[in-house]
Amino acid sequence: MFSATLVNWYQENKRDLPWRKTINPYKIWLSEIILQQTRVIQGLPYYTSFITNFPTVNALANAPEEKILRLWQGLGYYSRAKNLHKCAKIVVDQFQEKFPTTYDSLLKLPGIGPYTAAAIASFCYHQPIAVVDGNVYRVLSRIGGITTDISSPQGVREFKALANVLIDHQNPDSYNQAIMEFGALQCIPKKPSCPICPLKNTCFAYLHQEQHTLPVKLKKTKIRNRFFYYLVITINNKIVMNARKGKDIWQGLYDFPVYESEKRVDIEKALTVLLKDVNSYVIDNISEEYKHILSHQHIYGRFIKINITNNDLELNRQSFSIEEIIELPKPILINNYLNQYIF
Ligand code: SF4
Repeated sequence: MFSATLVNWYQENKRDLPWRKTINPYKIWLSEIILQQTRVIQGLPYYTSFITNFPTVNALANAPEEKILRLWQGLGYYSRAKNLHKCAKIVVDQFQEKFPTTYDSLLKLPGIGPYTAAAIASFCYHQPIAVVDGNVYRVLSRIGGITTDISSPQGVREFKALANVLIDHQNPDSYNQAIMEFGALQCIPKKPSCPICPLKNTCFAYLHQEQHTLPVKLKKTKIRNRFFYYLVITINNKIVMNARKGKDIWQGLYDFPVYESEKRVDIEKALTVLLKDVNSYVIDNISEEYKHILSHQHIYGRFIKINITNNDLELNRQSFSIEEIIELPKPILINNYLNQYIF
């Protein structure tokens, strides 16, 4: 009854999306990776661009990583793009370009967690494995009045078990699509459309007016503030940029030499550190502060643009023309600055 109602609702209300017209595991996988932590409206152009540039898993596996990062630019969580590439290579090298067909074997691939594995296994191979994402937590907790904390290991186990009891074994693909779409369009976080909901007569949250308290999520995300002071060095019409290394954010993306602080500092202090190797320079301009919000971090960036003509820096720093910079993969913070001040 529950699943039939959901699937009926889905048939009448689903959005017309390209990955819903295929059971090709490459396309389903690509769409699911792109849509993690991304709204459909934002992810759609990225999906189209990836399918156009890499029509097959083989094309993606053989692409240079920089091209993949460049196309990913703006989606954030760049480790997803790197894992996308790694996973494509494994599918080509170890599975003859065919995605594994079981939930457990899919889970072994880089970047594929329980949610994505369940989506591929059910959409492409008709396996009755329930997807459990934020939408599913919300729908199930409201309908059943379940108050277990969804950020706790117990909550994860409980909701996963319930979802796998409720899944329609005859139509696991439609059921999984339906509950996610229902959570995305109907049973939304704020102001769900309860008066026109086909499940309202049995929904705990609606009957008790508890929509706003469910699901329960106790663990709050800790936000770290970071202050980046970038030095934009122009040498002979080229700008110094480096690919970011290490385990930090934006690995593999290009930005400028940076001084980082946990607090906002005077621009003079940042300049003293940033310019310690530079003998003679002219400050061209200093930008206002840009704020860039990531899921666990708030980045505050300022850009100090200087021109130098004759310096040792020229010998050991990578620098790029404007045309080259356009093609480099860059964080959106950097792109925003470049669009305002340089391009
Ligand atoms: S009645 Fe409201 S809270 Fe309950 S499932 Fe429907 S939209 Fe969600």
